[in-house]
Amino acid sequence: MLLIEEKYKPVAKLLLSSGTCPRCVLRLCCVGFPAPYRLPYKELADELWKFLASDGDISPPSKKIRLDDSLECESATQVPGDDEDTDVSEDSQTCNLCLGILQHHCSKEFVKKIFHKVQSAGYEFQDFVFPVSLPAQLLVREHSAWLEAQQEMRKQDRVLEKADIIQLKEAYKWIIHPMISEELGVQAVSKSLFEVGVVFCHQETDEDCHFLATVCKDCFKPAKNKQSVFTRMAVVKALDKIKDNDFCIHFPWPPSLPKTTCQLVDIQCNHASVFVAGRYNKFSRNLPQTPWVIDGERKMESSVEELITEQLKALFKADSFNFSSSGREDVDVRTLGRGRPFAIELVNPHRVTFTKQDMKDLQQKINNTDKIKVRDLQIVTREAMAHMKEGEEEKTKCYSALIWIEKPIGKEDIEFLNDIKELTLAQKTPLRVLHRRPLASRSRNIHTMKTEYVDEHHFRLYLKTQAGTYIKEFVHGDFGRTVPNIGSMMKTTADILELDVESVDVDWPPAVED
Ligand code: ZN
Repeated sequence: MLLIEEKYKPVAKLLLSSGTCPRCVLRLCCVGFPAPYRLPYKELADELWKFLASDGDISPPSKKIRLDDSLECESATQVPGDDEDTDVSEDSQTCNLCLGILQHHCSKEFVKKIFHKVQSAGYEFQDFVFPVSLPAQLLVREHSAWLEAQQEMRKQDRVLEKADIIQLKEAYKWIIHPMISEELGVQAVSKSLFEVGVVFCHQETDEDCHFLATVCKDCFKPAKNKQSVFTRMAVVKALDKIKDNDFCIHFPWPPSLPKTTCQLVDIQCNHASVFVAGRYNKFSRNLPQTPWVIDGERKMESSVEELITEQLKALFKADSFNFSSSGREDVDVRTLGRGRPFAIELVNPHRVTFTKQDMKDLQQKINNTDKIKVRDLQIVTREAMAHMKEGEEEKTKCYSALIWIEKPIGKEDIEFLNDIKELTLAQKTPLRVLHRRPLASRSRNIHTMKTEYVDEHHFRLYLKTQAGTYIKEFVHGDFGRTVPNIGSMMKTTADILELDVESVDVDWPPAVED
C-alpha cells in the first residue's frame, strides 16, 4: 500500500515523468507515514507504476519517458532474491529533487560507512542524534516542485500548502534512523549527548540558489563565519519572500537532471562536554595556578591546572579542557584547609562512564605529588557548576599571614588588632596587578583578625575577609594605595613574608565520602 490519495495522481505522474525519484513523489503527494518510504526502492517503484496504471483515465507512463526507462532497466538488472536491498542500481537516474539523498544515501553500504566511522572513533554512548546537513539548493528544487504540484492541484480546485508536503529531512530520517540504529545497536533519538552528523554537498547544482541573491538582495548578507551567503536560513527566507512568477521565470520547471549525486563530505562525531569538580590544596610556594607563560616563554615548570588536568584529559580521552576555580591564589601563596573549589569542562570526551571507585583511583593518581592534593573529585552537571561562581563576592575567605615589623614589638603591641571587627578598607588596584587589571578603587571588609606573637619583629595574623580582598596590600599598604593597613595602624613599616589561604567558604562541590 502506497497510501497516496487518488487526488494526487496527476502530481505523481508529473513528477515521475520529469525525473523525480519514487520517494520524492511520496513526499510531494503528502504521504505522511514512514512505511512506504522504507519499502525497497524497486518495490516502491513498481508499486508506484501499478498505482498510476490502475486508473483508466490516466494512461500508463509511456516508455519514451526517461525515468520509466530507468525503472525498466532497474528491474532487468535486479538480481533475483536481492529484493530486500534498498540499494538503487548505479545506472538509475539521480533524482532532480533530492539529488540522490533518498536513493544512494540510504543504502546498507552507506550505513556501514557510518558504522565504521563511529566505531573507529571509539566513543562511549547510550543513544545518538543524527543531524543531517543538506545543500541549500535542495530547498530551491523542492520549492519548484511544490509550485508545479500546486498548479496541478488547482486544476481540480484543490489547494496544496507547502506545509503539507513531507520535508526531505523528515523522509530521510524515517528511512535512515532504523537502519543506523540497528547497525550501531542503540537508538537514534531527538536529544542525546552523542552526535553523529553527516554533511552533504552537490557542487554540480551549487548555482541553483544564485538567482535568489539578485531577486531578494537583502536576504543574503555576508556573515563572518559562513563560507557562503547561501545558508539554508537565508534561502528559506528568500523563498518565503519571492513571488511565484519571479521564481518560475528564474527557475523554470522541471529542474535540470543531475549527472552526479550528492556527495557525503563529512561524518562528524561529537560528545557533549562532561564536567568534573573537586577541591585542591596547593602546598608549594613556587607553583602558579595556571600555566605561567610570558612572551611564549615558560616561567614555571608546572601549574595546579596542569597537575590536575593531565590525568583527567587522558582518562576521559577528551580533545581539550577548560579549567575554572573559585578565585585564585598567587604563585607564592599556599591553599590549605579543605582547599579551593575547581571545575573542569572536558570537551568532546570519548569515555564518559566512571564508577565512584574510578574517580577515587583518578584522585589518587593526581595526588601522587607533594605539590598539590585534590579531594571530593566528582562528575557534576553544567548547571551545578554555576554554584561555584555564584555570589563569589559575598563569600568569606580565611587567611594566615606571617608578618615582619620594622619596629621591635611586644605581645601587647598587637593585641588591639584582635578587637577590630568589620574593618572597611579602600583598596586601589595593586601595583603588582595593574598590568592586567584596570585602575579602580574598591572597598573590602576584614571581618575579624586574630594575632599570634612570634618574636619582636614577627607575628602571625589570621584573617577572615570578604572575598576579593588584597591581603598583601592590607599588610604593607602598597605605597598608601590600601588604607588603612597594618603598617599605618602600627605606625611602622610592615611586610608580608608568607601567606596561606586557610579556607574558601564555598559549599560546593559536596564532600565525597572516603
Ligand atoms: Zn528524490
